[in-house]
Amino acid sequence: MERLQELKNDVFRCIHCKACRFAYSGKPSQKGIGEYEGKQKTVLYEGMVDSCPAGIEYGWEAFWNAGKIWIARSILSGDLEFSESVRDVIMPCITCGMCSAQCENKVPTVDIIESLRAACVEAGVPMIDKHQLVDRLVKELNNPYGGKAGERFQWAKDAGLEKYIDNKDATIGYYVGCTASYRQKNIAEATCKIFEKLGINFTLISDEVCCGSPFFRVGAVDTAQELMNKNLESFKNLKKVFFSCAGCYRTFTIDYPKWMSEDEDLPFETLHAFELIAKLIKDGKIKFKANKELKGKKVTYHDPCHTGRHFGVDFEQELIDQSKNLMFDIRKLDQKLEEWFDKPRTILRQLEEDVGIEFQEMYRIKMNSMCCGAGGGVRAGYPDFSLRTASLRCDEANAVGADILTTECPFCWRNLSDANELYEHGMEVLGILEMIDKYDLLDVQEKPSEDYILELTRFEPEEE
Ligand code: SF4
Ligand code: SF4
Repeated sequence: MERLQELKNDVFRCIHCKACRFAYSGKPSQKGIGEYEGKQKTVLYEGMVDSCPAGIEYGWEAFWNAGKIWIARSILSGDLEFSESVRDVIMPCITCGMCSAQCENKVPTVDIIESLRAACVEAGVPMIDKHQLVDRLVKELNNPYGGKAGERFQWAKDAGLEKYIDNKDATIGYYVGCTASYRQKNIAEATCKIFEKLGINFTLISDEVCCGSPFFRVGAVDTAQELMNKNLESFKNLKKVFFSCAGCYRTFTIDYPKWMSEDEDLPFETLHAFELIAKLIKDGKIKFKANKELKGKKVTYHDPCHTGRHFGVDFEQELIDQSKNLMFDIRKLDQKLEEWFDKPRTILRQLEEDVGIEFQEMYRIKMNSMCCGAGGGVRAGYPDFSLRTASLRCDEANAVGADILTTECPFCWRNLSDANELYEHGMEVLGILEMIDKYDLLDVQEKPSEDYILELTRFEPEEE
């Protein structure tokens, strides 16, 4: 309840205008693509489009973000008590952050929803059965999939990448995450093989455990913190850690510093692998090879919420925190967001130039990107809702005629792939790095030195 109490002013800043139900298309001048009859529903991709997956699925006031903020307000005022009925309204929410991005009043909705859930657990309301199961599995096996701890890096052994497991000379690490270790091993293998081709001396850490993301999201904060402490201990001697999973990256970069003690800093820097590839392209160190199979294929990109909007909201919050009067220069934020969201697009544009794919954006992108439906404990807890949301995103890709739907997160990959198959959207779903590895596209012009990698930062240093 303490965290929810800390957010009380933010909760009461919500004026219940419900603007967070909709996502704008981006720029008002952007031409819409009109009405499209998808597998789930007919959507008019023009102007404001319904955008909260929970509201779209359940339809009732309480399920849209504004309803959940009212629940938080009622709990804080003592007008409502936690119960299983309250839990069943606040849990089916993907914590996608679309509502945060749309709110002109800057209400940190995801923080509020996560704190509300944590307070619900703290009040003694049992978690739903499926969340209890993953909580038990992660406590026993350090991953929510029930995989054996000793088999976490079996994929690396099978792919001839064993030498990178506990590679003692390396100061650069790759945190693989549970989904890429036990399910989407294609993503883990592709990332390692690309690092190997680039000549990077990196290590996988065999004591790696779940990053804790699902548990921070569903309110099982004690479980999440235990996992965080184990990872911090295991990775503490590294200087830089790369990620291929959007959720793990967000958790290490945004959540860990919030939950660590105030006098502690993250002992290493974090970067997603796509940031490295984008920078190598910009510096002329890599290109791509032409490929007949991919030539002419229409490729679109799904921004994972965790590497897209969640970072965007965090940048914005940082500027608000630095401001003495809640005013800040919006141009600074716009510039930062532009640089941030351009990174995966730098890779896709280079693939367009060298390989011959046609890169086509979906209608809602970047801060306004529609969620894949997997996060916030929803894929585990509410699989049908999760897949219907993924199918809505696949509809959006179908609406622009995509042959290939790319993303940069194994969890988004899984949900989009499952919906693509289940609802017959007829596309191929690929990670960008997975595509580069699968079609052997990497053309290394100059291998990056260790110093080059260690000096990489999330943003280009600001000019004086
Ligand atoms: S969270 Fe923001 S956009 Fe949503 S109802 Fe409240 S004030 Fe309006
Ligand atoms: S986080 Fe996403 S699913 Fe949850 S209320 Fe906000 S927009 Fe809806």
